[in-house]
Amino acid sequence: MDLFDKCTSFTRARDAQATGIYPLFIPLSQSEGSEAYVGDHRIIMCGANNYLGLTTHPKVRQAAIDAIREFGTGCSGSRLQNGTLEIHRELERRLAEYVGKERALVFSTGFQVNLGVISALVSKGEYVVTDKEDHASIVDGCMLARGTMKRFRHNSMEDLERALASLPLEVGKLVVVDGVFSVGGEIAPLPEIVSLCKKYSARFLVDDAHAIGVLGGGRGTSAHFGVSDDVDLIMGTFSKSFASQGGFIAGDESVIHYLAHHARAFMFSAALTPPNVAAVLAALDIMIEEPERIARLNEIGVRMRQAYRDLGFEIGDSQTPIIPIIIGDDLRTLLVWKRLYDEGVYTNVFLPPGVPPNQSLLRTSYMATHTDEQLDEVLEVMERVGKEAHLIP
Ligand code: PMP
Repeated sequence: MDLFDKCTSFTRARDAQATGIYPLFIPLSQSEGSEAYVGDHRIIMCGANNYLGLTTHPKVRQAAIDAIREFGTGCSGSRLQNGTLEIHRELERRLAEYVGKERALVFSTGFQVNLGVISALVSKGEYVVTDKEDHASIVDGCMLARGTMKRFRHNSMEDLERALASLPLEVGKLVVVDGVFSVGGEIAPLPEIVSLCKKYSARFLVDDAHAIGVLGGGRGTSAHFGVSDDVDLIMGTFSKSFASQGGFIAGDESVIHYLAHHARAFMFSAALTPPNVAAVLAALDIMIEEPERIARLNEIGVRMRQAYRDLGFEIGDSQTPIIPIIIGDDLRTLLVWKRLYDEGVYTNVFLPPGVPPNQSLLRTSYMATHTDEQLDEVLEVMERVGKEAHLIP
């Protein structure tokens, strides 16, 4: 067997390309956030994580441009060596304060935060306990860790307790969940998880990639539930509400100090670039100064969830501006995706293994800058296509 045989025999994507319903890698020729173009085909963007619409905000754009003028385009080295700028330190101070923790550490991607933090903390003989629908970066962080991974049924506190109760009390353990689940849009029940962590002496890490800028007045799920002091570590990404690229971990000073000297995905990767750092700082200012954006985003979430339910769509347990349209069959999901795309509504396709078998869905997500007219158009197209495909009555 040649190593590359798996590549030549991988035909699933090419088959979809041949039939014209390949929903991946579609190049946008132009984008202003809530509306974009593929060539000259206009689409309303319902597939981005640009929750506050800040990627095109004049202050965020200007901050990135100014940072390039001042520092250049890159840091050309690790944060440990030559790569730390004063603005990295400033961003870390601001983020720690924002989420209510002693200290924060900025990584070059959110994915690297989970890889680096989990693998650095969970040593041989220790345990990491995760929700079955946690993000791929958490799963990969667990696989990289020397300790043992245990998984519990999605958002099931009985199953989490069963998993924790099966582990030795005196051994180190870390529970990791998505604060907001990236595909289904459900919120993790943090107060219950905090209680179980205390009962079984586990530490608790929340991945708030989809919650910062969205819940808790922008400060995430811990603030939403008022449990920030009881969540040991808060992780966030800059690739969503922060309109940039990168991520952070925030927690007690001693833990962050340890991670700065042990998290390999942090130590052996080049520092976040100056324009990326400056864009996050500007986005953070706007989040604090313009809370009406967060309010608008959540109003849109309420409106769209209600509208989809009223139309008869199956949207699971979404509680946020991430709203899945659950279809089930793979081919049917692809066909509905293509009809919506042709009608100018851009959604993201999730097929197994991204979702459980027969649970294929279209992930829709909304941003504060969607206009009411755009949302009306989305619902009008959804209703028409949903009826055509017999998804709704
Ligand atoms: N965690 C979650 C829950 C995510 O959804 C993502 C990205 N989709 C990440 C981590 C990784 O973040 P990044 O895109 O910044 O690498």
